[in-house]
Amino acid sequence: MSFSVPDYFFEHFDQITPSFLHSIGVRALFCDIDNTLVTYDDPLPTPAVIAWLEEMHQAGITVMFLSNNDTVRVQQFCEKTALLSCPHAHKPLPGKAKKMLKQMNIDKKESAILGDQIFTDVWTGRFLGVKATILVPPIKDKKTFFFRLKRRLEKPFLAAYHRRTRRIKKEKQRRT
Ligand SMILES: [Mg+2]
Repeated sequence: MSFSVPDYFFEHFDQITPSFLHSIGVRALFCDIDNTLVTYDDPLPTPAVIAWLEEMHQAGITVMFLSNNDTVRVQQFCEKTALLSCPHAHKPLPGKAKKMLKQMNIDKKESAILGDQIFTDVWTGRFLGVKATILVPPIKDKKTFFFRLKRRLEKPFLAAYHRRTRRIKKEKQRRT
């Protein structure tokens, strides 16, 4: 069960701050694009995404884009960011991400992965052995049968995440 339960859940990517990442020992972040940073319909990063990437850069966090989408989409999105990116990443297989870590000389235990899908993004992080898997809700989901099914299958794991968070909160309250 815990394999599919994300380590952290945030309502929006911009709630993930460099100080949070530093506090958990992370200096590199694999970042999904579609439905994590922008919708499938946004070809370019929004001003909010650019500001967030800039904040990460200033704080010394290396962001690397890891997307299952095609080269045209990923290149167009990443062009102005000058960050390392990988289209056709074949998530949840960890091979491409592993290569990127090697290229950047970063240890997997200093990296985290951010995405909107448990069976794609969180699983990649698990197979790779990253320090933390971070999930955000999809910005605007596709309405296809396949996506609806995937979201349905994710539900028990999200519920498990929230149960764990409530339990930890209660334990903390009890101790104070
Ligand atoms: Mg996505």
